[in-house]
Amino acid sequence: MTADTITAADIRINARWLIPIEPEAVVLDNQAVIIQGNRIAAVVSQQEADRRFRTRETVDLPSHALMPGLINLHGHAAMSLFRGMADDLPLMSWLNDHIWPAEGAFISEAFIADGTQLAMAEMLRTGTTTFSDMYFFPEIAAQCAHDAGMRAQIAFPLLDFPTPWGTGPEDYLGKGEAFIRDWQDDPYITPAIGPHAPYTVSDAPLKRAIQLSADTGAPIQIHLHETEFEVNEATEKLGQRPVARMAELGLLGPNTQCVHMTQVNDADLETVTTSGAHVIHCPESNLKLASGLCPVQKLMDAGVNVAIGTDGAASNNDLDLFGELRTAAMIAKVVSGDAAALSAHAALTMATLSGARALGRDHELGSLVAGKLADIIAVDLSDPFLQPVYDPISHLVYSNHGRAVSHSWINGVPQLQDGRLTRIDVADLMLRVDGWKERIRNQQAQ
Ligand SMILES: [Zn+2]
Repeated sequence: MTADTITAADIRINARWLIPIEPEAVVLDNQAVIIQGNRIAAVVSQQEADRRFRTRETVDLPSHALMPGLINLHGHAAMSLFRGMADDLPLMSWLNDHIWPAEGAFISEAFIADGTQLAMAEMLRTGTTTFSDMYFFPEIAAQCAHDAGMRAQIAFPLLDFPTPWGTGPEDYLGKGEAFIRDWQDDPYITPAIGPHAPYTVSDAPLKRAIQLSADTGAPIQIHLHETEFEVNEATEKLGQRPVARMAELGLLGPNTQCVHMTQVNDADLETVTTSGAHVIHCPESNLKLASGLCPVQKLMDAGVNVAIGTDGAASNNDLDLFGELRTAAMIAKVVSGDAAALSAHAALTMATLSGARALGRDHELGSLVAGKLADIIAVDLSDPFLQPVYDPISHLVYSNHGRAVSHSWINGVPQLQDGRLTRIDVADLMLRVDGWKERIRNQQAQ
């Protein structure tokens, strides 16, 4: 027997449990993950790691489950500053009477920077390592994520009407094209195109968005079939359901992410499935705004890739993706009348590998496999509310919340250590958030 060659590497993480996501539904005991640079060099038993690797740093996690970082595929990060400002309202009055007027009054570069940092602090604390954003001043959100070392798909907004970021479709598309050009080679940022919804963007700008996506490879993310009202109104006005209209325009394809999809008839299902478009499920926002429920299991059975998102903190009201998974798993069972629908492992896959697939990056994100990027989280299962542990996968979905996340790495860089953020100055951020709260509260009181 020949001795193993000893390889030098950067970080070794020893974990009690490891859930690689690939292969499916597997829990491995007493594993080590070896990180070299920004990638996973190996996932091996701790004995094998002793024989084969010498690392400059070792992190021991004796009561923790290690898994790939979560991917939150839909949100409006800076809206965290509107958290709890207007609750218990249906979508249209929530948007028309509260959110859009507040956005008109407050959205600025400084608002986006502070709100995005607040959202990132919450997401990092609760296990998210990649998020998708669709909001104003995308160049500011992209800079914030890049500076914090967090992975993000940042979609520039496209609407028919003026907003604080632009005067109309021409302006948005011009700025958006420059935004894509500026950020498309960044290691952390994927620039994307964010037409708000079929009812806020007309055919001509949608066609230009499709062309821009074809020219640059930038993904498209759109709110689609969020409510029954949206579908009925479109059918009355245009004689067509929005999914049919989007398909006819050529918007649906493997580089498109359809957010919500609470209304899915047989024709919609067929259209979405054959197009290869992805569906982003946002169950808590759908519940809170009484929008409806996405038939997740039915979509998955048809072969549609379904990922998960929290939506903005103004309609959720948190960005804890573990909490979102629990909600998703619970309501999938009621919607399909089957307690086996969206199993705990399927839910974890939805928040990791399926999210990576929706981004077109499942070859390098979404599972703990040698060669993939080192985006990793650890969840401490030693708390009484997570004891006893028969099956860590069950706990992560049904008993956990994101606050049990203790460590994370993105691109091999530590982001969370024993529950403390390494790259965001939380005390300073809280002062700025408090300043916004005072200003927004004074305006609301007028
Ligand atoms: Zn949304």
